[in-house]
Amino acid sequence: MSQFDQELAVGLAAVRQAAAVCRRVQSSITAESLEKKDKSPVTVADFASQALICRALQERFPSDPVIGEEGAAELRVSEGQEFLSSITQFCNDAGVSCSSEQVCDWIDRGGLQEYRPRFWTLDPIDGTKGFLRKDQYAISLSLIIDGEIEVGILGCPNMPVNGSRSERGLLAWAVRGAGSFVQALDAPNSEPHLLSVSKTSTSSDACLCESVESGHSSHSWSGQIAQQLNITREPFRIDSQCKYLAVAMGNADIYLRLPTRKGYQEKIWDHAGGVIVVEEAGGTVTDIKGASPDFSQGATLAQNQGMVVSNGQFHSAVIQAVMDNAPSEE
Ligand code: AMP
Ligand code: MG
Repeated sequence: MSQFDQELAVGLAAVRQAAAVCRRVQSSITAESLEKKDKSPVTVADFASQALICRALQERFPSDPVIGEEGAAELRVSEGQEFLSSITQFCNDAGVSCSSEQVCDWIDRGGLQEYRPRFWTLDPIDGTKGFLRKDQYAISLSLIIDGEIEVGILGCPNMPVNGSRSERGLLAWAVRGAGSFVQALDAPNSEPHLLSVSKTSTSSDACLCESVESGHSSHSWSGQIAQQLNITREPFRIDSQCKYLAVAMGNADIYLRLPTRKGYQEKIWDHAGGVIVVEEAGGTVTDIKGASPDFSQGATLAQNQGMVVSNGQFHSAVIQAVMDNAPSEE
């Protein structure tokens, strides 16, 4: 029994429910909507995921605030009505009978940017571009108390199960001090598998992963770092916090998130779930200067820049290479 058993159980059930809806919406994306760059599927899935998770948290932990990515203001106006009825339909199809008004209220529970010592942070769909490409995305939910991540959950509906091409969907979680675990998303009764980072001890052998989007993390900077560390393997590019899971599972050794512009503040919901899953799997997470991420600053990591994640075997060498190749500031 751990202090956070109930939080974990409620969070896992909510993320599974949200993942099922995201999968259903993603499967409805057609070549035609991709061609038109139609963003409506991600909008519907994003809001439905946030509504369902906030509803579950409200039911069991009514006084806990949620810092999430979305707010319902754009759904409450007349232009948002079509989206809202579609979101409400998906929630009802998921077995949650509800009105559009309730859906907006649940979403708005997560749209509050208030800071309290105990709160949840949620990214209902991290990696929206991956979602639209029918590729990787994640649902990330974490409980933060006094600036410490205590529980983190990553739902990764398209990550391969045991390297399989056909079976997909992983659910990973960690509770501070109790390790990280992974399970097939579709097998909630299966024995969870304890996660541990790779044992790669020479940086030149490392597999480095980074964002697909060069606007989210500098590819040219990571190329220079790889060169300095004598890494010859091509970087592994994947959307969302699935990168953290790749490191926690030992499939990648380094994850770099290198600022593309001065002043960008990383959002806590883009990291909290992944950070605790990697740390509890034995890995190391710092910002690009080697400082621990500070989750006590509200919605952003205002005291940190970028992120450097590794299996912990050569972290200081990676930080050194990051600093040695930092672009000069104009
Ligand atoms: P990824 O899938 O790793 O590319 O990360 C997706 C996340 O990047 C989104 O959830 C955004 O919050 C975040 N993001 C948006 N703009 C930037 C930026 N300029 N730098 C870093 N992250 C960003
Ligand atoms: Mg995100």
